[in-house]
Formats: sequence, structure tokens, C-alpha cells
Amino acid sequence: MQRRNFITASLASALAVLLGDAEAKEIVNPVKGSVNARMPVLFVGHGSPMNAIQDNPFTRHLQQLGQTLPKPRAIVVVSAHWVRDSTLVMASPKPQTIHDFGGFPKALSDMQYPCPGHPALAAQIKQQLVPLQVGADMQWGLDHGAWTVLHHLYPKADIPVIQLSMNGHMTLTQHMQVGIMLRSLRQNGVLILGSGNIVHSLPMSADDINAKPYDWAVEFDALTKAALLQRNLDHLLAKDKRQYPLWQQAHPTIEHYLPLLYTLGASDELDKISFPFEGFQEAAFSMRSVRFG
Ligand code: ZN
Repeated sequence: MQRRNFITASLASALAVLLGDAEAKEIVNPVKGSVNARMPVLFVGHGSPMNAIQDNPFTRHLQQLGQTLPKPRAIVVVSAHWVRDSTLVMASPKPQTIHDFGGFPKALSDMQYPCPGHPALAAQIKQQLVPLQVGADMQWGLDHGAWTVLHHLYPKADIPVIQLSMNGHMTLTQHMQVGIMLRSLRQNGVLILGSGNIVHSLPMSADDINAKPYDWAVEFDALTKAALLQRNLDHLLAKDKRQYPLWQQAHPTIEHYLPLLYTLGASDELDKISFPFEGFQEAAFSMRSVRFG
């Protein structure tokens, strides 16, 4: 509880700054070049790691997105697969490709995504999130939540990428608040990319990628779509789970939902919300992607 209270106090004071003059605050820009127009924010499903080597409607949509989005100068990924006891930022200049799965073909284990890191941007984010204490991490690289989608979005691997971990002690609201604190990066040509799944039930997943989705999966996905369009925080932050019994089915564990909250926080009411992909895989994974702006 003490830790949670500390996080709450830290975020509250950070938000007070943000709601005051954050947009006007001069932020050191370590990303070289002139300032771009504001970047969109993107949430993508990732599902099975096999999507990295498969050609299907979902992976084709990622390839198309990569060609139509403005080219970012750097990418900050929040992945479902990096949950820690604190918020960490990957500061390695050459992030390794992490194969954080087992039982998949060698072609997948052999895959590399040799993009550069961006230590200067990592240092900026560490500063920007003060008073939240953010550690610089040199061990983590890109987990499969990051590289299996980046491989389709930006196959040349020529854009610097860093990852931000999710603090497993935070509430849903606090995760969104960290997203708010990242929002100004968009002005500097940085793409904020959340990678998880809007519905993710590993225990209920089918072997067949094209299996008919469960009714509850379809319903929760549709409810979340509507809530995003209305920016309905009651649903999106699960304020009263008794009103939303589908939560437990859709997310037996919550980590695949959380990256959506970072992208929600990094967006605002002026962003047009669109869904570049809608659909399911393995009956229990929503592969819906969300573009803000
Ligand atoms: Zn995953």
C-alpha cells in the first residue's frame, strides 16, 4: 500500500505540472532534425509470436500501416511482456532481440530485429517522468510484443526503438497517467506504440488461428471499441468491475490490456480515433488496432 500511495503522490504532483504548462514547457529534444508535425499514437494487438513469420490479414494490415503512418524519428514501445516492480526505460544503444517464448519453430527463434536504441531519448523520458522514479535498464532489449509487430511495421529496422516497462504495482488510472506524461513526445516525431490485446485469454485460446471467437470476446471487444470512441473512462479504467462482468473473461490477467492505457493517455480529445484492424485470432485474442490522430 505504501508503494502505491507513493506512486499516487508522485503522479499527482507530476500531473499538476502537466496540466499547468507542460505543453509550453521547454523539453530538451535529443531527437535530431527539425520538429515534425504531431505524431499519431498507435495501439496494436500482437497475439501469437507466429504472426512475425505469417502472412495473414492482420500482418498485412501492419505492413500497410507502416507505409501510411508518418515516418517517426524514434519509437517508444510499451509491451505487455515487460512488467516489472518499477518503471524502467531501456537505455541500451543496441537492444537485443529477446525470444521470450518456447515451443515455436526455429525460424522464429532465429529472427532478429537489429534496430538501434536511443540512450538520449531514454534519458529524456527519465527526466520527463519525474517525480516518478524511472530506472535506466541496460539488460532488456526488444521482447516479442515489440519486435514481432515492428518487423512488419518497419521491416528495415532503421528507426531507433526504446521500451518502457510497466510497473505491476500501479492501478489502471496510474498507467494511463504515465501515458499522459509521455504525450508531449509526439511533438518531437516520436511514435508511442502500445502492444497488447484488447481481449486476451490464454487459457481459452484455440489452436486454430481462425477459430470462431467466443461471444464474450466479441462483446468485450465491441464494448471497448465504443468506450474508446466516447473516451468512457468508467469502462476503460474498469472503475466498477461488478458492472462489467466480462472483464474477468476477457483478461484473466491484465498485462495485455495495460498498453492500451498508455496510448489512451498519450492521446487527447482532439485526436480522431480509428481502427485500422478489427478481428480475432485463436478465438480468444482481439487483434483490434487503434490509431489516435
Ligand atoms: Zn503477448
